[in-house]
Amino acid sequence: MNEIPAPKPQEAHLQFHYYPSDSLTKPCEPCPDDFYETFKASHVHDLMMWCTKLHGYAIAANQVGINQQFFFLLRGPKLPKDSPQFIINPEIVDESKDTISFRETCLSLPNFTAAIRRSERFTLLYNDGLDKGTRKELKCRGLLARIIHHEVSHLKGRLITDEVSPFAKDDADKYLKALAKSVGQQ
Ligand SMILES: [Zn+2]
Repeated sequence: MNEIPAPKPQEAHLQFHYYPSDSLTKPCEPCPDDFYETFKASHVHDLMMWCTKLHGYAIAANQVGINQQFFFLLRGPKLPKDSPQFIINPEIVDESKDTISFRETCLSLPNFTAAIRRSERFTLLYNDGLDKGTRKELKCRGLLARIIHHEVSHLKGRLITDEVSPFAKDDADKYLKALAKSVGQQ
């Protein structure tokens, strides 16, 4: 097991959470109507900071210990330029029956990778924090769909180790046990 990068409090107010943090396995609460007034700008900064620092595509609120339904999406060369950056109260609807298996990793599960089967296309309903309360709609496919599905699973308290095929379940359980043990020894 490689060393887990230690969070640096001088750079972020919120710590990044690795498994077995309870924050990762608890479903998040919907963001309330006054979310925009009560939410701290520093939280947005922290989400962006961790996402960039850990080289992720996106980061869910509960990965920095906030139990609310939102995630940050880092715009990159592989994503549509107009992708939203801040996705609040996401809901996946109209999922395609076609599924596709793709190898995923997760920032909260260092050095773990597994093929995960997810729907190929869907529509995302969400708020973006710019237009208060206005529900937006985003058609998702390809890498964007993959990343968004992964983040929405996080907000439900699910990790990719919960999504692996039955054949890979034993390996995933072994990995989680080893990770929990190594964190306990630090
Ligand atoms: Zn993840």
